Amino acid sequence: MEVFNALTQMTPAAEPAIYVTLRLRMVDSQIRARGIEDERVLSAMSRVPRHEFTAGRYRDQAYEDYPLPIGEGQTISQPYIVALMLEALALTPSDRVLEIGTGSGYVTALLAELAAEIVSLERYAVLADEARGLLADLGHSNVKVIVGDGTFGFPPGAPYDAIIVSAAGPEVPRPLLAQLAEGGRMIIPVGSCDSQQLQLIRMRNGQPHTQWRELCRFVPLVAGGAIGS
Ligand code: SAH
Repeated sequence: MEVFNALTQMTPAAEPAIYVTLRLRMVDSQIRARGIEDERVLSAMSRVPRHEFTAGRYRDQAYEDYPLPIGEGQTISQPYIVALMLEALALTPSDRVLEIGTGSGYVTALLAELAAEIVSLERYAVLADEARGLLADLGHSNVKVIVGDGTFGFPPGAPYDAIIVSAAGPEVPRPLLAQLAEGGRMIIPVGSCDSQQLQLIRMRNGQPHTQWRELCRFVPLVAGGAIGS
């Protein structure tokens, strides 16, 4: 009953019950069953209405086990990879977080539930605008969505306790390392279009320490300015 109350309080009043059912099933069968144990991550994914972030005809596939198109040739990531990245970041409620690649805003909403302040960069103005509106509608007031090239990070907000990059490039952009706080964590896919691996980087005594993690497949991290205004 307590769980039920918590869910009904934290989801928008108009949310169809079927989405709650599908979401809890997604968390159990795709996330928990594959070894994600961080209760804060599991709880946030049980609450955030992913179907709001999968526009139009993909709405009913929001809780399936694969990425989906979100326009501009981009995708909302597979739920499991999102969980994996969030667990690796070990976020605390006081953390300040930089996200590169807002896309639909789904990960941004999860970050908003898990940390104190979020700065999120997206190079497509049209995606940033949509995400900004949706995040405001859902009541996330601790988020700033900015149109810009994330390979430069966002120096005015630095240093960050955590950085999450949702697009893959051949190497870790240096400005991002420079904007990671002492004790901070960054998760980023690195590699070519065909072959990528997550890197978890921890900043200790001013030095980045890298752990190579799971293989993955993300859209490209594209340097070179924003698109649209
Ligand atoms: N977390 C998002 C993932 C979106 S896909 C979601 O689940 O919806 C990755 C996003 O990164 C795309 O929207 C793409 O436009 C954006 N992106 C790629 N290169 C970028 C760059 N240099 N700066 C900012 N955003 C970038």
